[in-house]
Amino acid sequence: MGKRTIQDLADARLAAEYRQPVKTLEQAVEAIGWALEDRPKCCGEEVEISSFIGSAYQAVCRTCGKFIFDVTGPEFNGRAICLPDQDKYDLDHEARWVSGQEIRE
Ligand SMILES: [Zn+2]
Repeated sequence: MGKRTIQDLADARLAAEYRQPVKTLEQAVEAIGWALEDRPKCCGEEVEISSFIGSAYQAVCRTCGKFIFDVTGPEFNGRAICLPDQDKYDLDHEARWVSGQEIRE
């Protein structure tokens, strides 16, 4: 049986309302109107970037909730850190980002 795709991984990790085709970093940033730069700005301030062993996997605007997220990045479950299983998923692709805006009630 073949490996599952990054799209499968994205769909497994995202709630239904955030599901979308996976994108390159450039496409993901563009889709929410950010500039592709080291520290993008949104709502007049630098976005909050989270990284893991030197690579950024998530950026969020604290004000409006726009975000980009690397679906192959780590997942934090309490004190455990889970990374996607390389044996199960074919992870070696540029299109591994999603973006959007947090839905706040
Ligand atoms: Zn914003």
